[in-house]
Amino acid sequence: MKIKFFYKYPKTLLNKGTGFLSGYTHSLNPYTGCAYGCSYCYVRQMPVSMFRKEEWGTWVDIKKKAADLLRKELERAKRKGKVTIFMSSSTDPYQPIEYKEKVTRSLLEVMVENKPDFLFVQTRSPLVRRDIDLFLLLKDRVRVSMTIETDREDIRKHFTPGAPPIGARLKTLQLLADAGVPTQATIAPVLPSSEEFPEKLRKWVNRVCVDDYFMGDGSGGKRTKNLGIFSMYEELGLEEWYDPSAYQIVYDRLKKVFSTEQIYLSQKGFLP
Ligand code: SF4
Repeated sequence: MKIKFFYKYPKTLLNKGTGFLSGYTHSLNPYTGCAYGCSYCYVRQMPVSMFRKEEWGTWVDIKKKAADLLRKELERAKRKGKVTIFMSSSTDPYQPIEYKEKVTRSLLEVMVENKPDFLFVQTRSPLVRRDIDLFLLLKDRVRVSMTIETDREDIRKHFTPGAPPIGARLKTLQLLADAGVPTQATIAPVLPSSEEFPEKLRKWVNRVCVDDYFMGDGSGGKRTKNLGIFSMYEELGLEEWYDPSAYQIVYDRLKKVFSTEQIYLSQKGFLP
């Protein structure tokens, strides 16, 4: 799909952590819009997408001079107290344009100079491995969370054809773990997966977060319902996986290879 790119000069970068992210003082989005265009993305239902004529997943605003702005905002925020940052809540900080633009990397460089108390990096992109050098400088003040909703590539292609393959994400978790970067695997939203899924994660992570549309879309599943995602399960004959109790299938399988302290449910898995 052809993506349209726009350069923007934002006035602010750090937003107050609210709602699902109320455990954070701030959220940080290096881009607006997301080229992955996942079918179930709840941002489609938010003003940032709804007031735009182009469809979600077909446009990306690239934030210019972001590092200069963050340097100032971070200094100001740190003077007021503890700073914990969630990057990112409504875009993927390592979507393909980041290869060229390096906005996310420039923000990390600022955070290495003037460290926040904690930084949570949420992505589904193998490109995150490029910044291992910077994560290591942040030491235990950072956690990289890799979205892996399923281990089944056919399911990944059905729901998120524009997103990176599962194998590349697992490989990236391995590289992060080998380098000593704190990581977690985030099964969110839970999609139909195999019995062996937990075993595949066990090799590289000791922390897993499980979330679904009903706990995690910020509206008890209403936003996802409005997106008509149920029909995508019908197409596969896997309707039983679109259910508030379906996460339990994955949770029970995880419990066979992880201890309960290593498995986090919904919002708890995203806390600092
Ligand atoms: S990667 Fe995240 S922000 Fe981007 S479309 Fe998918 S769910 Fe939405």
